[in-house]
Amino acid sequence: MKKFIFVSGGVCSSLGKGVAASSIGALLEGRGLNVRMVKCDPYINVDAGTMSPYQHGEVYVTDDGAETDLDLGNYARFTSAPITKANSVTTGQVYDSVIKKERAGNYLGRCVQVIPHITDEIKARIMAVSQEDPDTDVVITEIGGTVGDIESIPFLEAARQMINEHGRKNVLSVHLTLIPEVGNSELKTKPTQHSVKAMQEQGIQPDILICRAPVILDEPTKRKISTFCNLDTDSVFTSYNVNTTVYEIPLIFYQQKLDQVILAKLGVESRHANLKPWKTVMEKFNNRQGKVKIGMVGKYMELTDSYKSVFEALFHAGLENSVEVEVVKIDSAKLEENADTILGKNGENVDGILVPGGFGQRGIDGMVAAADWARRNKLPYFGICLGMQIMVIDWARNVIGWKDANSSEFTEEAEHLVISLLQDQIDVKNYGGTMRLGKWDAVTLPGSHIAEAYKAKQISERHRHRYEFSNQYRKDMEDSGLKLTATTPDGSLVECCEWDTEGKTGHPWGLGVQFHPEFKSKPTQAAPLFRDFIKAVVESRK
Ligand code: GLN
Repeated sequence: MKKFIFVSGGVCSSLGKGVAASSIGALLEGRGLNVRMVKCDPYINVDAGTMSPYQHGEVYVTDDGAETDLDLGNYARFTSAPITKANSVTTGQVYDSVIKKERAGNYLGRCVQVIPHITDEIKARIMAVSQEDPDTDVVITEIGGTVGDIESIPFLEAARQMINEHGRKNVLSVHLTLIPEVGNSELKTKPTQHSVKAMQEQGIQPDILICRAPVILDEPTKRKISTFCNLDTDSVFTSYNVNTTVYEIPLIFYQQKLDQVILAKLGVESRHANLKPWKTVMEKFNNRQGKVKIGMVGKYMELTDSYKSVFEALFHAGLENSVEVEVVKIDSAKLEENADTILGKNGENVDGILVPGGFGQRGIDGMVAAADWARRNKLPYFGICLGMQIMVIDWARNVIGWKDANSSEFTEEAEHLVISLLQDQIDVKNYGGTMRLGKWDAVTLPGSHIAEAYKAKQISERHRHRYEFSNQYRKDMEDSGLKLTATTPDGSLVECCEWDTEGKTGHPWGLGVQFHPEFKSKPTQAAPLFRDFIKAVVESRK
């Protein structure tokens, strides 16, 4: 029998439910179980693709081109569970398919309702994930939102039905709450009691509580919570504030025997726990020496969540290069006039520049100024997606001298549209799910930075963009010294540009890619280009 764990949250949002669910996944994998992860998002958008990063944070992209919630990125960083379209379930998708079935007459004249039709659809999707691979042992499903929200009710009801249908030995409810500190460091359990009551009103008695608290809860507090919330005394855990890294959380849960209790409750016989990957991550974390400063020049810099995977990948790259990476957030709009004052006339304020992905015209000239600055000061530059397009625009404007050079995303007027739409994108009318999305192969040029990073001729990375390097300018670009070091296998699309290490650019490490390598970076293995970017930054500082 397959096992299911539902992770819900109460009291308030942003308690780290995604990290808690991922850490449980990591611990169960450490016990040799085959884990799958699902995120249920209560919003009505079909996917996260059409939401602004200000509203929603990063859009995490899977190999098969799903545009999902950033929690799926957490699952991918903490576990080895494959993440595809099937692992992201939204209210929008669920209603979309139920309504399509209704229009097709599949409900044979019945009245179509939230219970059973919507809840059946939710359960069917979770079951489908459990059945994809016969070896799957556990499916961990995180329910977005907070108990008490109107939108999450159908998802909690689906969980309740699954507990009822498969039994408590097979379906477990893990509930995350907040224990706030009031006045003189007094920890308050009342919000947690209310949150568990709200779960009980949905018909679910949580089996395990994970309490987010400033410090680890003492035994009397845990006993009080377990008595009031109707829980076994060994079933209250603390996710206390760490001043290290989220990657310590699996170890923190392990010390409290969370995985042991989960296995016992699910009736899975206990097996040896392998925590080596997480211990190694923490060793690397503690062995870091010195710090490098990366100027990240983007549009959504107020919110670190907008570039979640980029921040994580930089952190992973720091672990691999034994150095702390400090990200200096630079609002690109402010760079337009005074790149030198902000970045330092000779590179004294930052050690390297990263321009991440983005959409829309605002701040573009500031990003071009940052690329120009990194090229002239010979400081490492890493451009991701929009960041590669910026590198091409900078080259055309400031090396070739086409002052009007631009991307057709920002203007149709310029003569030199060095980044533009392909014909098949020009005809696209809908915004949702219509970009170049998901996994594409690329072929690298021997001897280039990119080939050296991946140590491979053929690579595969994920995309999320509409605009492309304009092929009619390939010759001008190459003749003037820009190196085009990776393309799609048929040669039709440019995937990577580099500044020459010799000749007139003589630049140590300047590279832009049309894809998003950050999505596949893990704390246990940094994405190759991030690793080499930070390596180049460390070396250029010497
Ligand atoms: N806006 C650009 C495009 O659509 C870049 C997208 C991105 O950086 N993800 O091509």
